[in-house]
Amino acid sequence: MSDFDNLDVGHEGADAAEPAALPVVAVVGRPNVGKSSLVNRIIGRREAVVEDVPGVTRDRVAYDAQWQNTKFTLVDTGGWESNLSGLAAMVAQQAEYAAQTADVILFVVDATVGVTDADAAVTRVLRSTKRPVVLAANKVDGSKQEADALDLWQLGVGEPYPISALHGRGTGDLLDALVAEFPEQPIGEDDDEGEDGPPRIALLGRPNVGKSSLLNRLADEDRVVVDSVAGTTRDAVDELVELGGRTWKFIDTAGIRRRFRNLQGADYYATMRTGTALERAEIAVVLMDVSEPLAEQDIRIVEQVLEAGRGLVLAFNKWDVLDDERRIYLEKEIDRQLSRVAWAPRVNVSAKTGRHMEKLVPAIETSLSGWNQRIPTGQLNNWLKDLVAATPPPVRGGKQPKILFATQAGARPPHFVLFTTGFLEDNYRRFIERRLREDFGFEGSPVHISMRIRE
Ligand code: GDP
Repeated sequence: MSDFDNLDVGHEGADAAEPAALPVVAVVGRPNVGKSSLVNRIIGRREAVVEDVPGVTRDRVAYDAQWQNTKFTLVDTGGWESNLSGLAAMVAQQAEYAAQTADVILFVVDATVGVTDADAAVTRVLRSTKRPVVLAANKVDGSKQEADALDLWQLGVGEPYPISALHGRGTGDLLDALVAEFPEQPIGEDDDEGEDGPPRIALLGRPNVGKSSLLNRLADEDRVVVDSVAGTTRDAVDELVELGGRTWKFIDTAGIRRRFRNLQGADYYATMRTGTALERAEIAVVLMDVSEPLAEQDIRIVEQVLEAGRGLVLAFNKWDVLDDERRIYLEKEIDRQLSRVAWAPRVNVSAKTGRHMEKLVPAIETSLSGWNQRIPTGQLNNWLKDLVAATPPPVRGGKQPKILFATQAGARPPHFVLFTTGFLEDNYRRFIERRLREDFGFEGSPVHISMRIRE
């Protein structure tokens, strides 16, 4: 086993480089107050409203929502199963989960009914947490019911916003109030940044694996290195190369082409420059030499790609020198040492003969689309709900952690945040990752899964 096999790549909690999840709004309230209608109203969906019957599991949990220019995740707690009996207890538990996971609670009460036991139970939970609460007094369809809304001041969770989820009355003011409670958003951290221009490829590999030969062959076959542009690092030169009808930017090709680097700067190049090239690239093609055993340095470069969160293509060069015996050995080596990146597209090429060079671009395109892929929140949660129902998280310390909902916090590479009531074992998160890949693809890209457990 190499060190690489023991690395828990892509399963750590969010670090500074990862995009933060959007603000989360949880809609709580007893059944029949109009939570689903309000959710539909906010996400702008004209879908038949499912009856808000207690105990009926609905296939809706979390959605992408937006008000003015602010995006957020809207969670309908009505979809959470509860094993508690008694309406007040069940609703209180949902409120508790909501308070654990949401940034802001949207508490919905039926103004025409007034305060019930279940409403009071929710209020007790909400007042004991530090989350901001916005109170919606629903079913205020006309001015006649406005006095009813005023009664809800007695709940003690602040101003009741009179609304009609059905007709849309008052929902603008309600949303303004919600958005005003959002935590400060870090600005300038748009993960869509840098999407313009040709896709950026870093061609990596230890010295003598054939990077320069491959680059020459690529540029040669299409007879064009369209342009050379100075990169941002000192001495870096990027090349625009047209391949498969598309322009690609190969990052820091000076470091690859320059001949003298082989004299003494080779190792320096391989380790120092890999990092800077990766920072600027979207996809890394890691080239390996099949005429020699896989080296520790090969593995380290792959690790660097994962740490940088870039798309990955594995390219095995010098395939022309491979005999059957060595090929069998090599396949075993790859299975053993590169099992963690089994999701990366693989090409077996020869820069010398040109073998399978045409497969490189489709492999890069696959990685690029996996790296950019997004799953809408609603779809993700429907999928997750089935998955968790079939295979619940293992019990830990006598407790079964619940996954309340999930969002994809970002792409490039895809990053998922699971909102849970307890710690999920690495194994279980790996299981989720595996199933995500099976059902949605993400081929050629690392996938990050982190948890948010809120006290
Ligand atoms: P770099 O250091 O990764 O840029 O590697 P080079 O492109 O300079 O290649 C190193 C050596 O491997 C040179 O002698 C090349 O001729 C040779 N080489 C590159 N690709 C192939 C290949 O596909 N097959 C064979 N047999 N030799 C190759």
